[in-house]
Amino acid sequence: MAGKLTITKEFHFSASHVLDRLPSWHKCARLHGHNYVVIMELSAPSSGLTEAGFVRDYGDLDGFKKWMDDTVDHRHLNDVMDISPSAEHLALWIYSEWVEKYPELVAVWVSETPKTWAIYRQEDSDESA
Ligand SMILES: [Zn+2]
Repeated sequence: MAGKLTITKEFHFSASHVLDRLPSWHKCARLHGHNYVVIMELSAPSSGLTEAGFVRDYGDLDGFKKWMDDTVDHRHLNDVMDISPSAEHLALWIYSEWVEKYPELVAVWVSETPKTWAIYRQEDSDESA
């Protein structure tokens, strides 16, 4: 089978931010917080699973959980990130920080509210192969 297998794992943290590049009338320009949800999405060709049959052992993502707890949980994201801490930038930042450790990482999902998601997805480089 030539298809791909995809796994996801969900993480949670709470943090504050100010989107100070917005006009002052915008509510997100005021100091506020979110209970963030982050989903790590990892993918592998069906022929490329581990011997146990995994894309990657979910336990391997414990390192990401610890980083999240240490780096962003209960912090002010403007102090942690070099760029405006939007959900989009968070997704991109998390992807770029972790793709080296988890080469199977294909997308990072970030939610600030139950109805909204920002998703960074790596272009599928072997699509045309
Ligand atoms: Zn916000």
